[in-house]
Amino acid sequence: MSKLLIVGGVAGGASAAARARRLSEFAEIIVFERGAHISFANCGLPYHIGGAIDERDKLLLQTPESFHNRFNVDVRILNEVIAIDTGNKTVKVRNLKENSEYTEAYNYLVLSTGAAPVHPNISGINNPLTYSLRNLGDMDDIISVIDTNRPEHATVIGGGYIGLEMMEALHNRGINVTLVEQASHVMRTLDEEMSEVVHTEIRSMGVDLQLNTALQSIRYITSRAAVSQNDGKDLDESNRCGYLELATDKNRKTRTELLIVAIGVRPEIDLAQSAGLEIGTLGGIVVDSQMRTSDPVIFAVGDAVEVRNFTSDRSALIPLAGPATRQGRIAAGVIFGEQGEYCKTQGTAICKVFGLSVASTGMSEAALKNEELEYEKVYVHAANHASYYPGAETVSLKVLFSQDSGKILGAQATGRDGVDKCIDVLAVSQRAGMTVEDLQHLELCYAPPYGSARDIVNQAGFIATNILKGSHRPIHHHQLQQLTNSHVLLDVRTPEEIQTLGTIPGAINIPIDVLRSKVDELPKDKEIIVFCQVGLRGYVASRLLNNRGYNTRNLIGGYLTWTNTQ
Ligand code: FAD
Repeated sequence: MSKLLIVGGVAGGASAAARARRLSEFAEIIVFERGAHISFANCGLPYHIGGAIDERDKLLLQTPESFHNRFNVDVRILNEVIAIDTGNKTVKVRNLKENSEYTEAYNYLVLSTGAAPVHPNISGINNPLTYSLRNLGDMDDIISVIDTNRPEHATVIGGGYIGLEMMEALHNRGINVTLVEQASHVMRTLDEEMSEVVHTEIRSMGVDLQLNTALQSIRYITSRAAVSQNDGKDLDESNRCGYLELATDKNRKTRTELLIVAIGVRPEIDLAQSAGLEIGTLGGIVVDSQMRTSDPVIFAVGDAVEVRNFTSDRSALIPLAGPATRQGRIAAGVIFGEQGEYCKTQGTAICKVFGLSVASTGMSEAALKNEELEYEKVYVHAANHASYYPGAETVSLKVLFSQDSGKILGAQATGRDGVDKCIDVLAVSQRAGMTVEDLQHLELCYAPPYGSARDIVNQAGFIATNILKGSHRPIHHHQLQQLTNSHVLLDVRTPEEIQTLGTIPGAINIPIDVLRSKVDELPKDKEIIVFCQVGLRGYVASRLLNNRGYNTRNLIGGYLTWTNTQ
């Protein structure tokens, strides 16, 4: 009979344990979890803080007792594995309740130790008003500080999905929020021009969004100091437990009463590293496609491991719940004789930012550039369902694809409705190895309340295919800077649109519907750069001109994409 030990009892660990039991009724399975809970919903933590999930217990998907009853797994909470002896195949465990240590032998070991929040090296960071969010204990601490101190102002550093979710949760608790992000935009899985709408949404909710800003120092002012500074006036008001004075590299000082640090996570590898397991250059545990580490009887899964990026086929750290649970399942399967393989990670993710959904799959343009991979891109800004049916909302979609093979490399979308469907379809298409040409043929749900006869994903396929076939010569927003006097910039929208929305400096205006009658006004010896609001009329105009012997390019994503970059 096999003895399987699992370190870490949340996403990857719990999934490995449950799968192992389904495959072997008689194996001895022990899960060690150093925290007080197993199998809790870390993804739900911000939503309980913000009040959308009202009962804390709903976050506890399993307890040690329920897990034992269902799966006959020995779950040992408050037990931390502190060392692995790979020679003798034993682990040393510290029982945190009793402050004692013991060893446990294994035939197989699965490490699902997760990733810990990164703590920046900022002076003053260790103070009683600064928190990160990883587990239920952190959540309870944050809720307790909110309930006890009733902060009027909180600051979140880091505009990734945990930072954004915390920003919204704190806002929903009636707290004024400042969000500080060192980069030029939030959600690094999006490219800059796609994130502009997210910034607008954040600011429209009254959040003080500080981009390109780094927190430099923190000063904790205790209640006593605060009182003396304010002649005792604030004792029963906002200074009950003191506050923080934050200074940024923009010389801005902010007084805040709660600071959430959400600047990313780092794989927890200490245990693996001290056991001599191979660690990759990105700082995660190295595993093969069956999740086996450099020791053949030790497997590792989840946020602690380096995966293969589906798009680039290079090593990557992609800490997400779906991959962690699937990897746990694969590892258990392999241990109990199945021949499964983990098929790389696309990084498909979605985040709610107030009324907006922000989702992506595959690689961003910035990441493709970083890895020096070739690509082309298209944008579609279109209604999520038939625009004549009430409630239509714009979805902005960007699809990145290979110019050589037409394969999908990544996609990003923002909007109020239909974003998850759009990105899920593209995630499946990419996983299936489809090309942008194949996207034209996807037959997706359509009735006016749900979609369009030409779905947004179909539209992306049409534009991309036209580009690949050469019937649509693209120009991108960043290439407009290279225009010279051998180009004519032609805006084909109506004068009313231009008056309301503005235009690109230097453009002349001939609305598309009168273009045929005014075509002679355009010089044939210059390249005509056509644009409209989102790219469609520009394409029609550029075809009209092409067919009449003009040399044209159409601005992909139109004026809307261009304005997002200004
Ligand atoms: P974890 O789930 O972190 O579990 C690791 C466990 O191992 C921890 O409980 C830890 O205490 C324990 N452990 C570590 N070392 C030891 C040791 N030596 N001995 C015993 N126990 C040990 N992902 C999404 O896809 N979508 C989301 O919306 C989403 N939202 C999130 C929101 C928040 C606030 C957080 C924190 C994460 C979110 N994630 C989300 C990420 C997702 O939760 C993780 O990718 C996933 O939980 C990783 O699973 P894991 O098993 O690798 O690690």
